[in-house]
Amino acid sequence: MSLRRWITVTLTVSACLTPLAALAEPAFLAIPLGTSGGLYEDDLSSYLLAPKGSGDFLALDAGTLMAGLRKAAQLGSLDGIVTPADGDLIPAAAMLQRHIKAYLISHPHLDHLAGLVINAPDDAKKDILGTGPTIDRIRDHLFNWQIWPAFGSEGSGVLLGKYRYVRLVPAVAVPVAGTGMTVEPFALSHADGYPSTAFLVSANGAHVLYCGDTGPDAVEKSDRLQQLWRRIAPLVRTGALKAIFIEASYPDGTPDTRLFGHLTPAWLMAEMHVLAAAVDPAKPATALQGLTVVVTHVKPSMKAGMAASARIMQQLQSRNDLGVHFVLPEQGRRLAL
Ligand SMILES: [Zn+2]
Ligand SMILES: [Zn+2]
Repeated sequence: MSLRRWITVTLTVSACLTPLAALAEPAFLAIPLGTSGGLYEDDLSSYLLAPKGSGDFLALDAGTLMAGLRKAAQLGSLDGIVTPADGDLIPAAAMLQRHIKAYLISHPHLDHLAGLVINAPDDAKKDILGTGPTIDRIRDHLFNWQIWPAFGSEGSGVLLGKYRYVRLVPAVAVPVAGTGMTVEPFALSHADGYPSTAFLVSANGAHVLYCGDTGPDAVEKSDRLQQLWRRIAPLVRTGALKAIFIEASYPDGTPDTRLFGHLTPAWLMAEMHVLAAAVDPAKPATALQGLTVVVTHVKPSMKAGMAASARIMQQLQSRNDLGVHFVLPEQGRRLAL
């Protein structure tokens, strides 16, 4: 074999090798309960997360709960979490009442809350965590006896107090009660400064970043994503960040004026390049190699033909010059992170 050929083969083989980050032991278990960014009311944004081996989960957003839990039960994803001790309840209900310990709500749009509202009467006592604007809107516009009973710990009229509202302060990490995890929130911009949130969830020295709906900095005229990338860059550098959940709502070609505070594959890759430069300014091209990025909130299309999620994954892969490990989550199917 000539030297040139040997180099070509070696480079090709090493490019195909599983990145180191992916070989590390998983630190978290995620169970997507809802993955789409609209249209399907039984599959709206919600992701369960727990440290590996723990049965105490938090829910990142709560667009769909029971439909996702029933799917998870069918797929065997609740096996070993729901135990014979929960035998008086169907597995989905045991998970809802006994194993989801808290809700982290990124912003109060209905596609991130509908499942929580509908299931509130049958839920157990727990915390709802969010930034002030999110909690205020849930208190004032949902659990207010006008739309639904006042299940929260604040508001006017008789308070049922099933949910304790916990107001998070940007860049301040606090424990999530009932779980072995902490959460640190960061403000995001979701069209004209509408408040959305990213949550950095941490346990045992490992981290997952979940981003609520967000537009790109350039379109939002904001630096919030840039600040977020600077904050998490050291965690990416050391491999302590196990995954980023972030949206790609619309396909490429969507005009910036029609994004309504969302990302496309092209804009997501542009933001990944900003992150890569923060992680390794000297070698940004390899800084994110093997980093797991879970693609959320794809808006389904009503048109016949290729599914919107397949199109968006294709567009992301074709632009993926950073070696990012893009994952399309599936409702009810476990993700080891
Ligand atoms: Zn939204
Ligand atoms: Zn949304």
